[in-house]
Amino acid sequence: MSRRRPDSRSGLAAGLLGEIQTPISTEPLESVYEITGELGRGKFAVVRRCVEKATGKVFAAKFLRKRRRGRDCRADVIHEMAVLESARNNARVVNLHSAYETDHDIVLLLEYAAGGEIFDHCVSEELLPEAQITRLIRQTLEGVHHLHLSNLVHLDLKPQNILLTSLSPPGDIKIVDFGLARRLGVVGELREILGTPEYVAPEILNYEPITTATDLWSVGVIAYMLVTGESPFAGDDKQETYLNVSQVNVDYSREAFSRVSELAVDFVRKLLVKTPEDRPSAAECMSHPWLWQLCLSPDPATTRPRSVRERSCGSKWTAPPEDHEDKENFLESPHSHAKRFRFDEERPAAGDGEL
Ligand code: ADP
Ligand code: MG
Repeated sequence: MSRRRPDSRSGLAAGLLGEIQTPISTEPLESVYEITGELGRGKFAVVRRCVEKATGKVFAAKFLRKRRRGRDCRADVIHEMAVLESARNNARVVNLHSAYETDHDIVLLLEYAAGGEIFDHCVSEELLPEAQITRLIRQTLEGVHHLHLSNLVHLDLKPQNILLTSLSPPGDIKIVDFGLARRLGVVGELREILGTPEYVAPEILNYEPITTATDLWSVGVIAYMLVTGESPFAGDDKQETYLNVSQVNVDYSREAFSRVSELAVDFVRKLLVKTPEDRPSAAECMSHPWLWQLCLSPDPATTRPRSVRERSCGSKWTAPPEDHEDKENFLESPHSHAKRFRFDEERPAAGDGEL
């Protein structure tokens, strides 16, 4: 009699969570909420703005299809809910309010992030001042650090999945979209091919073990995009993008970084390294001097040209700089950055297993 071998794609081995506390109501959603518009959509989900009739409170309702490509994906939705629940005390993660079930969808009622995606600030003609960027990156790292403390990895960090509580002035960040998130270390190694080519780390493309460092790569990509307005690895097609990622082919030229502080370049350089073990952890990143140099600025509008003084951190950093020259190292608000984004939003559902 042969014993069944553990299936590497089973929920446990794949780091999927299966237990939720939030009840899934079968009451008609429309009796409780009024749907007032669309906020965004992916391959298998539509997110709609809706208002709770009893309170007037606004929520984002994420409609997740139960069947995708003929496959029952209820377990994937349950997993996404379970991850949101385990991140409930993480202020940088969007809150799960309630859940409903319709014939085709499970609908997650999420805290509404009124400021939209930080992606919009990456493609805008007017990039954010560097003091704002470092604040958003600090908050993103806080959220990621908390996730990693719980052995959770997001695996789909990108500017479209980092939202803001308000638009102008930019509010606080909220991390969304935990469909690809996984729990590490439950059973053996985690290797999966998932994510969005432009933002995924080389180890994903090479089917090598996934660790918390995988998310830190994506934080490097996000920081690069916020400061330069360009996507560092986007090629003309998927193959070129893959090649750029696996060769860590990044443009740090003066042209791309003409109005960006040396410390910003140093921060990005430390994250966009091929070997995951050589990337700093989220906690280590938090003490990089770039993230603290501008936070004393009373008014981000008082921008200045960056300092011409070359400065490079060592491979490790520990404390914010005491140096006043660095604190004044402001970014001018650039107007005319060339963009080279690919709007390739294709990605599989959790478990579909390919890029
Ligand atoms: P998908 O898995 O399809 O990528 P997401 O959870 O990323 O779904 O949601 C898709 C888009 O919907 C987001 O990129 C964002 O623009 C919008 N969105 C998602 N959640 C919220 C929210 N809580 N508040 C406001 N907009 C949201
Ligand atoms: Mg998304």
